[in-house]
Amino acid sequence: MATNITFTMIKPDAVEANNIGPILAKINEGGFRIVAMKYLRLTKEQAGEFYAVHSARPFYGELVEYMSSGPIVAAVLSKDNAVNDYRTLIGATDPAKAEKGTIRNLFAKSIAANAVHGSDSDENAAIEADFFFSKLERF
Ligand code: UDP
Ligand code: MG
Repeated sequence: MATNITFTMIKPDAVEANNIGPILAKINEGGFRIVAMKYLRLTKEQAGEFYAVHSARPFYGELVEYMSSGPIVAAVLSKDNAVNDYRTLIGATDPAKAEKGTIRNLFAKSIAANAVHGSDSDENAAIEADFFFSKLERF
C-alpha cells in the first residue's frame, strides 16, 4: 500500500503570484521529500478528467476553467502519513477557515483559487500521481 505518498499541485493563482518558491519551502520544512515534479499547463479536457470526481458539484465548470487557466506545478511527495500530514500543512479548502500558518492561510486567494491541491486518501494519491507521472519520472 502506498501509505507514504501524496500528490499536490501548486495552482494557477499561486504560480501567478510568484509563490512556487515559498510553497516549496513550506513543503520542505514540513518534512516532505519530492519524489516527482513537473511544471505544465493542463488543457480543459485534462483538468476535467483530473477533477471528474467533482463533475456533479456546482463549482465543477469553474474549477475546470480555473485549473486550465495557467501553468501549475504537479508533484508527488513522500513522508510517513503523507496524505493526512499534507492536508494539515495546507489547511482547510476555504482559506478563511484555514489554520494560521498553513499554506492556504498564507497563500490562497479564495475557496476556488486556494493555492494548492492535496490528495484526500492513499487511494486517490496513487490515482492522481499516476495521472501525471510514469515510473521513470519518480525518484
Ligand atoms: N472548490 C470550489 N468551491 C467550493 C469547493 C471547492 O471552487 O465550494 C474548488 C477548490 O479549488 C477545491 C477544489 O474545488 O480545492 C476541490 O474541492 P475539494 O472539496 O476536493 O477540496 P480540497 O480537497 O481541495 O480541499
Ligand atoms: Mg479534494
